Amino acid sequence: MAGIVVVFDFDKTIIDCDSDNWVVDELGFNDLFNKLHPTMPWNTLMNRMMMELHSHGKTIEDIVQVLQRVPVHPRTLQAIKIAHAFGCDLRIVSDANTFFIDTILKHLEIRECFSGINTNPGYVNEEGRLMILPYHDFNKCPHGCALCPQNMCKGLIIDGIRESIREEKRFIYLGDGVGDYCPSLRLKERDFVMPRKDYPVWGLIMKDPLRIKGEIHEWSDGEEMERILMKIINTISLKESAQLISVDCKSVSAQEPLPQVFSSSMITIQYL
Ligand SMILES: [Mg+2]
Ligand SMILES: [Zn+2]
Repeated sequence: MAGIVVVFDFDKTIIDCDSDNWVVDELGFNDLFNKLHPTMPWNTLMNRMMMELHSHGKTIEDIVQVLQRVPVHPRTLQAIKIAHAFGCDLRIVSDANTFFIDTILKHLEIRECFSGINTNPGYVNEEGRLMILPYHDFNKCPHGCALCPQNMCKGLIIDGIRESIREEKRFIYLGDGVGDYCPSLRLKERDFVMPRKDYPVWGLIMKDPLRIKGEIHEWSDGEEMERILMKIINTISLKESAQLISVDCKSVSAQEPLPQVFSSSMITIQYL
């Protein structure tokens, strides 16, 4: 389905934990993290934590090993692979960082399923320490969105993705966190939002669902996410096939066989 863009948040959406917390906890730096948390923004804190890990002798290899153990629901992986095989344009918009996300996606062998990843830059410097920078340079050009943290406005990123794609496409947005509310508000009538049930973005959406223009479909775990995502993709593909058929039928007599697109849609349904 070339007409569909699926945008995934990463933490607690693709993986079943928060990668930042996971690394800090697994390497035993939770106490320091909790002590520093009230004193600085999250993105700054993560960069600081990477400095602390490095100065306490933790190596990049230690971080990679921990990242390769993150919990992931097998059906989430399946959903991503099937949506990609269908020709959907898959993207990630995340407040984690490029290093964590690339390491995990490569380990799960799904990196090539995604056409784009918008997240905070993360790189290993010459001392072998991981540096985590803000996505938006908030000193030079603040994004001006009151809903979002200063380092990243996911709504602005969604607008940018929409602008970069010339044709009208339908967006399906999946997320769990507070930061996923702003992009949900920017969806159009023809789009879909899949908030994770009982997580912060779900609470914000359900408080006033009329503010959301797209269709809302909640999900709880990887199994439900796969089922609902496949259903939405299939519904869109049927609708678009039906439109193609009605256009075709204007110039085709009733005796002629149905256009090919109709039978391929039926195969799609059976496959699902
Ligand atoms: Mg998340
Ligand atoms: Zn925003």
